[in-house]
Amino acid sequence: MGAGWGAEWGAGWAASHGRPAERWLGILAIPLALTVFIVDTFTDIESAIAVLYALVLLLAATALHRRGILRAAGGCVLLAVLSFLLSHWRDMDLSSVLRCGVALATILITGALLVRDHESRALLVRANSALARSERRYRCMFEQARISLWEQDFTAVTAALDALRAGGVTDIAVHSQLNPGWARELGALIRTTNVNDATVEMLGAAGRAEVLGALERFLPAEDPAMAQVLLALWEGRDRFEGRARLIAADGRALTVLLGISFPDDGVGFDQVVVSVVDITQRERTQEALLAAQAELARAARAATLGALSASIAHELNQPLGAIVLNAQACLRWLRRDPPDVDTGAKAVDRIVRDGKRAADIVQRTRGMLVKDTRCDETIDLRQLVDEVAMLLERELSVAAAVLVTDFASAPPSVRGSRVGLQQVLINLVTNGLHAMAEAGGTRRELTVAVDGSCDGTQVRVTVRDRGKGIDEGSLAHLFDPFFTTRPDGMGMGLAICRSTIESCGGTLTAYNHAEGGAVFEFTIPAAQLPAPTPTLAPTLAPHPPSAVAPAAPLTPARED
Ligand code: ADP
Repeated sequence: MGAGWGAEWGAGWAASHGRPAERWLGILAIPLALTVFIVDTFTDIESAIAVLYALVLLLAATALHRRGILRAAGGCVLLAVLSFLLSHWRDMDLSSVLRCGVALATILITGALLVRDHESRALLVRANSALARSERRYRCMFEQARISLWEQDFTAVTAALDALRAGGVTDIAVHSQLNPGWARELGALIRTTNVNDATVEMLGAAGRAEVLGALERFLPAEDPAMAQVLLALWEGRDRFEGRARLIAADGRALTVLLGISFPDDGVGFDQVVVSVVDITQRERTQEALLAAQAELARAARAATLGALSASIAHELNQPLGAIVLNAQACLRWLRRDPPDVDTGAKAVDRIVRDGKRAADIVQRTRGMLVKDTRCDETIDLRQLVDEVAMLLERELSVAAAVLVTDFASAPPSVRGSRVGLQQVLINLVTNGLHAMAEAGGTRRELTVAVDGSCDGTQVRVTVRDRGKGIDEGSLAHLFDPFFTTRPDGMGMGLAICRSTIESCGGTLTAYNHAEGGAVFEFTIPAAQLPAPTPTLAPTLAPHPPSAVAPAAPLTPARED
């Protein structure tokens, strides 16, 4: 052994990382190794004393690294071989060689096991320190983030949901209908365990302590977002994103976007991180912008209608004046004695001609309103309804209403005007929202249903609301231009809807649903049919169905 052994041991020792107690155990290995060497070399005990080097290694390993253990094992092997040579050089026999072999094997196996154990421990230590570093980084980001971050404990809620499942609940939608208070009860179980400074600032709270505890204080359990979060948990989704209304500590209402990442391994529900982005200001600006746009649109509509009315009045003046003159002339011819029936009949002919011309003017004016209605596009209604739902997302959210779609398994495409049909659906849905807001009920659900093919050639679409329904007295006038019961209404929406639908070869009707609310139903040709020639349906003004005659110049009634 000598200098080499000392150096080996020293190098391993230099790498020692043990605590003081472990270091002392490691130091004890040196006298033990010397004792084993002396006993093995200078006594006559006929047994494998050298196996005790395994003990030396066990002690040394408490204070050594991998390299040190390997060196210690090498040192023990050297000592064992040296002692064998010193004591059995002259009388070497099989049993002494075997004893030496057993001792060497023991030393090597012990060394290998110790190295493996050491590596496993080192791996664990590295993993732990990586975890600690990542935890520190997370804490730092959590504290310093400029967006509001919350840590919430969902364990009580997940336990309650598990209990529901165990109790036989399989469909949470049915359960929530039977137990309207379920979201409130479960929502009350969510607790906030930590928040960052941005949250304290956003809520206008005095400090973190004020925000910790029941989440309900800031997110009322009746907010639809609460039920949506619970639904996401129930369905085992790993994320939830949605809009919610928070009540700040000083009572302000905040509109926020919530982002929640749920643990996907079933553990960690005691520390779910929720990010909250305050969009109140953005919403207010958008609302103001939309209000200004609506006001502008209303003003533009009023101006257009004014101009249109003036143009109709001006154009109708001539044929109506001629009709009156001809009628007066006719009366005079008929009152003569004897009556001049032939001349009177000619005056009536002129009345008919001017009447047709007046109808033609009305027809053309209505044509102006729907002049862009080209009905040659193939439209996927499912896609169109989804687009409308997206366009009206904000209106639905403000009205706290949901739009439910109900499509036949494979509704055929339809032929019509994409923009026209979109406008029709937007009008019907918006009217439904107004009706539900006026009724003030809590179930604000609009259903847009697309029903296969009602007679093989037409597809039927219904828009049903849960509003107050249509007054008996209004039913007959609903589609008349300028008919409205709303103080700020213009009464042109449904009239234009009917024109659009009819110009594409469909029909639009309305009725009250037996369970309350109004239903607007339109049909539209299925796409496989040849495109209908755009026709102008008799909607905007009463006129005879065939009253389209070439315009004729006004012929003054003859007095002769
Ligand atoms: P406006 O909305 O400007 O009043 P519309 O032509 O869209 O014009 O509607 C005309 C009228 O029809 C409304 O004022 C209202 O009385 C009635 N109406 C329309 N949709 C509904 C509905 N879903 N439920 C009850 N009444 C409705």
